[in-house]
Amino acid sequence: MEMSHRSAAFEKLLKKAETGIRELLHLPDDFHVLFMQGGASLQFSMIPMNFLPENAEADHVVTGAWSELCVQDAKKIGSVNVIYNGKESGYTMVPAEESISISPDAAYVHYTSNETIDGVEFKYDLDGHGVPVVCDASSNILSKPIDIGRYDLIYAGAQKNIGPSGVTVVLIRDEMLGRISSNTPRLLDYRQYAEHGSMPNTPNTWGVYMIGLVCDWLKDSGGVEAMAKLNIEKAAILYDAIDSSDGFYAGRAEKNCRSLMNVTFALPNPDLDEKFCAGAEKLGMSGLRGHRSVGGIRASIYNAFPKAGVERLVGFMTDFASRNR
Ligand code: PMP
Repeated sequence: MEMSHRSAAFEKLLKKAETGIRELLHLPDDFHVLFMQGGASLQFSMIPMNFLPENAEADHVVTGAWSELCVQDAKKIGSVNVIYNGKESGYTMVPAEESISISPDAAYVHYTSNETIDGVEFKYDLDGHGVPVVCDASSNILSKPIDIGRYDLIYAGAQKNIGPSGVTVVLIRDEMLGRISSNTPRLLDYRQYAEHGSMPNTPNTWGVYMIGLVCDWLKDSGGVEAMAKLNIEKAAILYDAIDSSDGFYAGRAEKNCRSLMNVTFALPNPDLDEKFCAGAEKLGMSGLRGHRSVGGIRASIYNAFPKAGVERLVGFMTDFASRNR
């Protein structure tokens, strides 16, 4: 933590983190890997500031709380066209691939590949049909292989699957940098990060170091391909418990868009939700309360969460259901 970010030693650590992400996601050479700050939330503003000129519109796919918030910020900068809005269905689903209609002259199309609060996840990589695709992958990046060819900008707060909080990873195609208007403030301009090796100012050095170590761990574990297999197994254990509970546990998301990272469900009433969380906590299983905006239960089972932990939770679920029906 005392190491100068200008030292050769740190430059090596940054390179290691960058190479790790590059290798894990099989990034083509025309992608930059940028380590930024301000969280995924700052990207909500930076994307339109860099890529949404006054005379253009950005298409947004809204599937949950995070993509909704992203639209609110983008609207402060420019013109937004919501091409799908799942709000009426309670954010329990994502649109079918063939039903998405992107305006051919949109500046870009933005979507959120996994909605962390609602527990819905895209099972396909969105095709922009020539329009640049921008994706908030904060809560499922590195959880599975992706078809990188479909994307032009992917961003993610590090704190789920990449490393500690305080770093935002941005993967951006070089061609996108040419679209940025020249009067973007320095630290809000992606070109500054690309030109200065993620260091237009002091980066989060310790966070970047940790990302390098997480990449090592992922590579040793078999990469995102092995993670995907494990994540499918982990999620299936939980969803099977929900589906075989005779309705005691009700899954929130439609079955074909259930998130592998955030398993959301509810008990027959909020009092039981609370009793469930309190009982689980007594056994050392914390963090199960659903986000305050939706209630219910949310089991977040990111890459680092072990299968044995999922099995233990399911054991508790079975026991709790038999005692509280
Ligand atoms: N997008 C998604 C999908 C998220 O899950 C989160 C955080 N949970 C955010 C954006 C906001 O991230 P940050 O707190 O890093 O700004």
